Amino acid sequence: MLPVVALVGRPNVGKSTLFNVLTRTRDALVHDLPGVTRDRHYGVCRLAAAPFVVVDTGGLVDHAEGIESQTARQAGFAIDEADVVLLTVDARDGLLPTDRAILDRLRRASKPMLLIVNKVDGLDEHGALAEFAALGVASALPVSAAHGRGVTPLLVALEALL
Ligand code: GDP
Ligand code: MG
Repeated sequence: MLPVVALVGRPNVGKSTLFNVLTRTRDALVHDLPGVTRDRHYGVCRLAAAPFVVVDTGGLVDHAEGIESQTARQAGFAIDEADVVLLTVDARDGLLPTDRAILDRLRRASKPMLLIVNKVDGLDEHGALAEFAALGVASALPVSAAHGRGVTPLLVALEALL
């Protein structure tokens, strides 16, 4: 069995875009509308020394109801089955309460995680990372999924955890 890496985070932070970069497919739905990926979506990343499965999830939302609670449930399953979770946040939006809520959930699950600070293109990377330092996650990586930036350091950090 290949190790499993799950992409988790609020809607619209760039999870599906990162999934596409890691799996080099356009299978994941990338859309300007938040919450397009309702179900978990699987692919294989072959860019690192050893292959691993990538799971894309719909966005986790606070106080979710209806279809969004189903999405949150799917993300919960993805967290459960993951060996490592990539908690993805949006450098443009900055740190939001929902990011903290998702992190609390991950900490309760005691999963190894990396904090992916996405959308740093056109931003000061250090400033972007500093904002999320308040979360207290040791490994935070600046990434621009849309521009394929920061992917190699991400793969290196993942290799150390898998
Ligand atoms: P998801 O809901 O977390 O899966 O987010 P998506 O991957 O669907 O992306 C949401 C929006 O953010 C889309 O309009 C993407 O083009 C955009 N996006 C994703 N990654 C980046 C990035 O690195 N930089 C910028 N500027 N936009 C991004
Ligand atoms: Mg998505």
